[in-house]
Amino acid sequence: MKDLNDSVSVLKGVGPKKVEALDELGIDTIYDLLTYYPFRYDDFQVKDLSQIQDQEKVTIKGKIAADPVVAHFGRKRNLLNIRLLVDNDVVKVTFFNQPWLKKQLPVGKEVLIYGRFDKAKASLSGIKILSSVDGNEMNPIYPANKHIRQKTISDLVKLAFDEYKDVIDDVIPEDIIEKYKLESQRQVIKDMHFPSDTKDAYLARRTAKFNEFFLFQMRLQALKSEEQKDAGLAIKFNQADMDAFINQLPFSLTNAQQRVVNEIQNDLSSTRQMNRLLQGDVGSGKTIVAALAILACIDGGYQAALMAPTEILAEQHANKLATLFKDTKVNVALLTGDTKPAARKELLPRIKSGEINLVIGTHALIQDSVEYKNLGLAIIDEQHRFGVNQRAKLRQKNDGTNVLAMTATPIPRTLAITSYGEMDVSIIDELPNGRQPVKTAWIKEGQFKNSVGFIKERLKAGEQIYVVTPLVEESEAVDMKNAINIYDNFKNMFEPEFKVGLLHGRMKDEDKNLVMTEFKNNEFQILVSTTVIEVGVDVSNATMMIVFNADHFGLAQLHQLRGRVGRGSSQSYCLLVSDPKTETGVKRMNVMVESNDGFVISQKDLELRGPGDIMGKAQSGLPDFKVGDPVADLTMLSVAQQEAIQIVSTNDWQNNPMYSKLYSYVHQKNNKKMFD
Ligand code: ADP
Ligand code: MG
Repeated sequence: MKDLNDSVSVLKGVGPKKVEALDELGIDTIYDLLTYYPFRYDDFQVKDLSQIQDQEKVTIKGKIAADPVVAHFGRKRNLLNIRLLVDNDVVKVTFFNQPWLKKQLPVGKEVLIYGRFDKAKASLSGIKILSSVDGNEMNPIYPANKHIRQKTISDLVKLAFDEYKDVIDDVIPEDIIEKYKLESQRQVIKDMHFPSDTKDAYLARRTAKFNEFFLFQMRLQALKSEEQKDAGLAIKFNQADMDAFINQLPFSLTNAQQRVVNEIQNDLSSTRQMNRLLQGDVGSGKTIVAALAILACIDGGYQAALMAPTEILAEQHANKLATLFKDTKVNVALLTGDTKPAARKELLPRIKSGEINLVIGTHALIQDSVEYKNLGLAIIDEQHRFGVNQRAKLRQKNDGTNVLAMTATPIPRTLAITSYGEMDVSIIDELPNGRQPVKTAWIKEGQFKNSVGFIKERLKAGEQIYVVTPLVEESEAVDMKNAINIYDNFKNMFEPEFKVGLLHGRMKDEDKNLVMTEFKNNEFQILVSTTVIEVGVDVSNATMMIVFNADHFGLAQLHQLRGRVGRGSSQSYCLLVSDPKTETGVKRMNVMVESNDGFVISQKDLELRGPGDIMGKAQSGLPDFKVGDPVADLTMLSVAQQEAIQIVSTNDWQNNPMYSKLYSYVHQKNNKKMFD
């Protein structure tokens, strides 16, 4: 019985040497070989002379006008000279060191020759004489190595396809194939390797991509639905307590906040273990949503923990939540790396006993020495700044602990669908009423002096200003000098009428906190800083963000920085000062000026970062697809996801005969390969 998992050695002509060479390319089985797709095709369609560019590789068709002549240079080199009549023009064709071709080229014969064209000389350096008469040949080009030739790979694929085509099966359900006009897997394999024209190649690739995305999503969604079944703590809270708390807030929740709060509360009260990602643009009001989740958890008799990436943020959360919860049964403690040993020693038993029911801190929260009584909810703020292990460790502090991961850096849809696909996603896609989009302008450094008048107006109106300079040099000392230079310049321009403060990376945490507090209290009006002003810092009287060397920041960072202003009801401004040296730098500035939407910006960021960075998977978090490009083919990716979700949420899909092959695909262990 033929099986796609057969070793390539079953093919005629594949001995130990070829097995080894193929193995180096990652090809061990027939399956591997058939899915070793070409990365491009040489297109041998004939072109008219008039349409050919200089130095273009093309196929031309003509008649041999005279007997070809071999010219020798020394002992080892020779040139075959051919005069080819193409319509009414004569093209000189040469082949280097292939004198034997002369036999195939008698006078008067019509031939197709592929080569590189030189327009000025009207000559072609021949690469290959084509066999096909109609000129429709598409020649697959594979990633090869020095032990195996293109031609050998393509011959082996042909052989394998002929022998195994009958066992190539479709895993994709019939209805989906029909709905999206997909091709059969057999057709895909054939046309990926040997298309008869570019259209065939395109159609095969289209199906191959869809299949790849769809099957990836099926595995993800099936895993998700199985993992979450009945593994979590069901927390019974009192809805009246929730309502009372919401009613005493100085504002009412936006529709988006309300919807997300409902989603979270459903998760908490059900036996499904929550594994939810909360996304919201800067200023969309995630903190209050997190607070309501905490309150529900504590109301239901459990403890909650909130982990933030830095001391400043942890402290800010602790202050904010302590104020918010002052008339409730929530008992807050702050635990960070800075917590003094004596204070820490006093805290730990109170956490263990459950007397403290909300612990806020940094990664200090996940140390083994920190024990909880009954951790019902773990919230991870700015989750991308923690490693997978750190996140898992917090979740494992208790069996079934519900997890809410928050991010103020909107995750591009591509990544939300792939890398975070196993989480439920809640999105706050609405800003509180009265918020005006931040007005953004990009100016060259030389133009900055023209903005000084406007900056003074803002200050005179009682507003405050952030000034940020990036990490330009590798050395912190140099960056500090940059910040200090700008600090001095700003002092010269604006003091004594307005005061200028400085914050930089070399300061101790205590000093940073002090500066932030003074700025918050409006003790100075302009804060010059290196990038240490953290995501999440909240000074609502600040209405202007000036970023020097703005092109040194990524789009996500720029959007975060801009998010520090526009938090109150007055109009805010963002001034990007930069002279970008690259085209990407210019594009980034334009994206910032054109869009205020974090989701749009993050997707653009992923696009602009380009294949180089996207291939650096560790950084981008993108899974490895063979043919699909999750950034460029985003629409197809999300359609595939919708279909997979649809199937997995269909009752009893596992036992539906229509999905039987799909089911075994999804649950296969790695021992049996099927097509994807
Ligand atoms: P982020 O999503 O960036 O963490 P925050 O939670 O810090 O945003 O909220 C930003 C500001 O908006 C805070 O000052 C907060 O009190 C306020 N806010 C949150 N929700 C609302 C609302 N529904 N209406 C008005 N203001 C709100
Ligand atoms: Mg926040």
